Amino acid sequence: MIAVPMPHQLILDSTEQIWADFRIATLARNVSQPYGLLIGYWMGTSGGKIAWLEPQPPRLPKVERASWIWGKQQLLTPGLIDCHTHCVYGGNRADEWERRLSGESYQTIAASGGGILSTVRATRLASEEALVASAALRVGSFLAEGVTTMEIKSGYGLNMESELKMLRVARRLAVDFGIDVEPTLLAAHAVPPEYHGRSDDYVQWVCRDMIPAAKEHCTAVDVFCESIAFTVAQSTQVLQTALDCGLKIKTHAEQLSHQGFATVAAKMGALSVDHIEFLPEVDCQILARCGTVATLLPGAFYYLRETQKPPVKRLLAEAVPIAVSTDCNPGSSPILSLRAAANLACVLFGLTPEQAIMAITRNAADALGIAQRCGTIEVGKDADLAIWDVSSPAEICYALGGNPCVASFKRAKRIRTQFLN
Ligand SMILES: [Zn+2]
Repeated sequence: MIAVPMPHQLILDSTEQIWADFRIATLARNVSQPYGLLIGYWMGTSGGKIAWLEPQPPRLPKVERASWIWGKQQLLTPGLIDCHTHCVYGGNRADEWERRLSGESYQTIAASGGGILSTVRATRLASEEALVASAALRVGSFLAEGVTTMEIKSGYGLNMESELKMLRVARRLAVDFGIDVEPTLLAAHAVPPEYHGRSDDYVQWVCRDMIPAAKEHCTAVDVFCESIAFTVAQSTQVLQTALDCGLKIKTHAEQLSHQGFATVAAKMGALSVDHIEFLPEVDCQILARCGTVATLLPGAFYYLRETQKPPVKRLLAEAVPIAVSTDCNPGSSPILSLRAAANLACVLFGLTPEQAIMAITRNAADALGIAQRCGTIEVGKDADLAIWDVSSPAEICYALGGNPCVASFKRAKRIRTQFLN
């Protein structure tokens, strides 16, 4: 019999939980099976981290003090990561959706006070408590389906008071739910009404006042570079200011038209470029060279009934890491299920289920710059985990509706949502 090396005695002594009888989809690069699947492995967690992962059960008496979590052959995956959401906002835009479906044009709706600025009005008026309460319902839905880390953007305040309010709400949601939230400043989301026709002045204010004031409240800065939002020059200025303040950067780019900002942002060190339906194929090489994640948001593509698809085949050919997110927002992507977003990425954009699961775990961690602590099941990483009652990993994003997530854990602690007891 081959002796299998076991973890060091010291590590076993500190083991608090032993995870036994799971099929483990690690999603780790160094496991060659699809989904990084390990069968017949045991895992130990300690201090909220994965302490060991071994093909043999521990036999030493010290670990008997640990609590055992029996998987009954259920699937264990890394906790899911939603790396692009706008899930804090006032009001909603269901009425607008109804009007659009009845044939009204976006321009007519915008002219009558609809569109993003209607969400800005509602968000400015809402108290911090009201925003926490409404966002908590949405966050609860995500968590019930295995999400353990979320990015939440500001961008519906567009003034000092309300942008900071949104970032505080994002932090409070993290504390209330016991999850990790990466708060991102998106003050350059739209030009607010008080700066109508003066977008340069607004960008000056964002760079001079807003970003420095927000830097203690966020980890990254995002910008919407688009014909209906900010130019390449303005967007560059916003992201450069963020870098100067020591913040991470990312961008909404090439969603509705080709502006050419995705590659500019990638060269500046953006963690991710998001949407990219209009990214030219030749630019995929630049993303690959810069190590930038391509974040696909099929929910917005679906709701806006777009036809231009992101260059997925070329991204894959160039080995650009692809993340997928809900883009949860009241206007163009009111999606409260990361599993549904992964499903849409498969059906609409042609990802395989394995690529889609990778896109909502490992690559989503890269898109947030937090891959050192989560996104895969590997020794040394946080024990952010989800248990699934499925026979194959593809089932995680196979069905629309239903929920095969049995439980999820943040640093080995069970996450509670309104849907779990
Ligand atoms: Zn977005």
